[in-house]
Amino acid sequence: MTAALKALSSIISKSNIDFLKAPKKLLIDGKWVPAASGSTFGVTNPATGEVIAQVAEGDREDVDRAVKAARRALEDGDWSRMTPSERGKLIWRIGDLISKYKEELAELEALDNGKPISVARAADVPLSADMFHYMAGWATKNEGKTIPLSVLYTPGARYHSYTRPEPVGVVGQIIPWNFPLLMAAWKLAPVLATGCTVVLKVAEETPLSALRLGEILLEAGLPDGVVNIITGFGETAGAALASHPGVEKVAFTGSTEVGKLIVKAAANDLKKVTLELGGKSPNIVLADADLDVAIPGAASAIFFNHGQCCCAGSRLYVEKKVFDRVVEGVAEYAKKIKVGPGLEPGTEMGPMVSPVQHERVGSYLESGLKEGAKAVAGGKKREGKGYFIDPTVLVDTKPAMKVIREEIFGPVVCAMPFNGLDADIVRQANDTIYGLAAGVWTRDLSKAHTLAAQLKAGTVWINCYNIFDSALPFGGYKQSGWGREMGEAVLNNYPETKPVTVRL
Ligand code: NAP
Ligand code: MG
Repeated sequence: MTAALKALSSIISKSNIDFLKAPKKLLIDGKWVPAASGSTFGVTNPATGEVIAQVAEGDREDVDRAVKAARRALEDGDWSRMTPSERGKLIWRIGDLISKYKEELAELEALDNGKPISVARAADVPLSADMFHYMAGWATKNEGKTIPLSVLYTPGARYHSYTRPEPVGVVGQIIPWNFPLLMAAWKLAPVLATGCTVVLKVAEETPLSALRLGEILLEAGLPDGVVNIITGFGETAGAALASHPGVEKVAFTGSTEVGKLIVKAAANDLKKVTLELGGKSPNIVLADADLDVAIPGAASAIFFNHGQCCCAGSRLYVEKKVFDRVVEGVAEYAKKIKVGPGLEPGTEMGPMVSPVQHERVGSYLESGLKEGAKAVAGGKKREGKGYFIDPTVLVDTKPAMKVIREEIFGPVVCAMPFNGLDADIVRQANDTIYGLAAGVWTRDLSKAHTLAAQLKAGTVWINCYNIFDSALPFGGYKQSGWGREMGEAVLNNYPETKPVTVRL
């Protein structure tokens, strides 16, 4: 056992120690196999920087094997012969098994991603189980329609037309590291409900919970080749998947920058593409809001999951009359957050996921402060062991600053005052290339609904933030993406709609 694992053995379960001891392989065609190259890479605990597991470094050849397995499972096998009801029960079983192994999964998530185990227990794991439970119900409802025709050029002829929703084919999915298990669940559950097969490339920083999910899929009885899981790097394995000629559709969650590369890679053979990308979400507090709710709400909108949320409320617009009070309240909240290792009891915010993110968030802080912003809480990255950042509240920012324009993806909020509810606050809120989410805090129903309609955002939360549900569609306007995840809407991402017309 490595020193890192030994140190963990008193904190995490024996089953996870055993899971981490064995080198982790790729899931291809129902079997755990090493990468064709034999290469592996180390996965680190971001709270200490220590390597806790070795993982197969999948590449083009492995992606190719996985795509072939997915093709076979799609066209000929137990999966394609399964009835919708059998598929639904199987998907439900996956949700049940996630619930059964909830503690192990929460531990793995805290260890690999760095998030507090309390967050993994309360959000990542139950939401993942629920996504499978929710999607299980849709497996029996992939219905077409009968469509009455009025074909004008053949008077008197009668036709019977109906639509068939058919699986789009082999799907390539690529996910990020901020909610590793949940992103896998959001992606896999609808693919299974619509009868497709898939090759999933997980984030290099956080592969562990998805690999454990792979074991759960097999335990649930998923036929071989339906879900294949590749660990490896974006530039190699990810790029190979996004451009593979055997893949009909790519579903990607990650940065807007890589989203654009995915579109280019998929353009060669015009694969279908859906994208869930970055954000720079406005959170608007009006003077009439219940500030006892709005202040902790605005703080949690940015600090939840260390601000490593695509929908984080990172631009906080506060009506002038209450600006000082709100900023003071959010800063107080920030200063009280207990930052520490995700597995330490009482931790409220863990480390950034990697040294790269640590540097990246740190350099945004430097740039903001250099350009004239002032930190009323935090303002720097911590040095020493682990990739910690102080929860930060910036004021005195200007609209052109990088900290206002670019996604920081860390615990950094920029607070700005505005005057009254005029058109300008809507303009400021919408003045971004992104459009993923927005928040509004007010007691005035009319203002709330007016703003909800005016904000160019895929989701609007009123007097709440970060409320997710498997039944609610989630996705972005503008450069925050194409298409929607979750809810009934995600079912549009995977079937092809085929009208069949019969002359009677
Ligand atoms: P990222 O760098 O875009 O990576 C996302 C995934 O893409 C990873 O699996 C990555 O592999 C892979 N990848 C990287 N380069 C690739 C390439 N050339 N071809 C194919 N795949 C490639 O994003 P991240 O830094 O991991 O995650 C943070 C970003 O994701 C943020 O911008 C955030 O807003 C966004 N996000 C959006 C949502 C949403 O629902 N809208 C949800 C979560 C996160 P490696 O891990 O090996 O680099
Ligand atoms: Mg990355």
